[in-house]
Amino acid sequence: MADKRDYYEVMGLQKGASDDEIKKAFRQLAKKYHPDLNPGDKEAEAKFKEVNEAYEVLSDKEKRARYDQFGHAGVDPSYGAGAAGGSPFGQDIDFGDIFNSFFGGFGGGGGRRANPNAPRKGSNIETTIFVSFEEAAKGCKKTVSYTNYSVCNECHGSGAAKGTAPKVCHACNGTGQVQVTQRTPFGVVRTSRVCDACGGKGKTIETPCATCRGTGKVRTKRKVDIDIPAGINGEILQVSGHGNAGDNNGPYGDLRVRVEVRPHPIFERRGDDVWCEMPITFSQAALGGEVTVPTLDGKVSYNIHEGTQPNDIFKLKGKGVTHLGSSRRGDQYVKVVIEVPKHLTPRQKELLKEFDGTATEKNYGKRKGFFDKLKTMFGDDNKK
Ligand SMILES: [Zn+2]
Ligand SMILES: [Zn+2]
Repeated sequence: MADKRDYYEVMGLQKGASDDEIKKAFRQLAKKYHPDLNPGDKEAEAKFKEVNEAYEVLSDKEKRARYDQFGHAGVDPSYGAGAAGGSPFGQDIDFGDIFNSFFGGFGGGGGRRANPNAPRKGSNIETTIFVSFEEAAKGCKKTVSYTNYSVCNECHGSGAAKGTAPKVCHACNGTGQVQVTQRTPFGVVRTSRVCDACGGKGKTIETPCATCRGTGKVRTKRKVDIDIPAGINGEILQVSGHGNAGDNNGPYGDLRVRVEVRPHPIFERRGDDVWCEMPITFSQAALGGEVTVPTLDGKVSYNIHEGTQPNDIFKLKGKGVTHLGSSRRGDQYVKVVIEVPKHLTPRQKELLKEFDGTATEKNYGKRKGFFDKLKTMFGDDNKK
């Protein structure tokens, strides 16, 4: 079969022949080799068959396209095995294997076909816990509560009632897969599909364990203490072996804990630095002096300088958040907010007016600069 002639050659045509040329060639050749016109001529009979076969393929758009691409193997199911080169589908193909090689099979081992009885690691569990701003900044210990699938204590994961054991599935001999052979235009294709009898497990349980209903696993509430490292901010901590139970005595999956930080009423985190705003009175700003500043380490006193302006920022070195994975700390930045007093008493107003009467340009550099600019703009005395 490997020396099967090319269909175009059979028809005496070039590869790009038009539909009309194909039809015309067929009519001529069919007449030439028709058995009725060549009684007893074995060679003519064979040629007539060959022409018919070629026409059947070349006159059908789809078949012709496949033939053009894959040659005889593209259109003849019996062709292929042992064919010399050419077609990518020239060999028997096992689509199950192709699938497994793309997706790594079930076990992820990349083997030919996953053994349903091989130990498999359990799936991971994801959960989120919340910590305070201070806890995240300095690190802490937390108890995480979660629910997982644990190995059933009653049957030790087998799923079979006490005193019984799972049996190897007869339908698939324990492989969990059954082979399906199909003849297709691409050749003989073997595919495997999940065994219906056992659902791919490779075994059947006659008397299921009552505790886990034959699954071998039970939902279990669990707690685990974890160390939250200082400097964390939305990262995920992995607690190995605290996820769901594996299959066939495979290891437990992991617990993945996302640590979310609650916002703080005063502090705001920017990288490893802590920012806050601090209201002071306008006389504090003008006179300077000691103020009490909240930090992650408690209250500290800070000397603001005389003539501090609104939105001035001062820095407290090393009072920020510990950098994740080190002992280095960021800084704290404090932005000054000057609060203008409201609801003044007549006496207070009197004092302020008295103060104002003594103020000069020297006291208000910005104001002076502003009115100097106005002066150059309008050439006029706009003051007050
Ligand atoms: Zn059980
Ligand atoms: Zn089976």
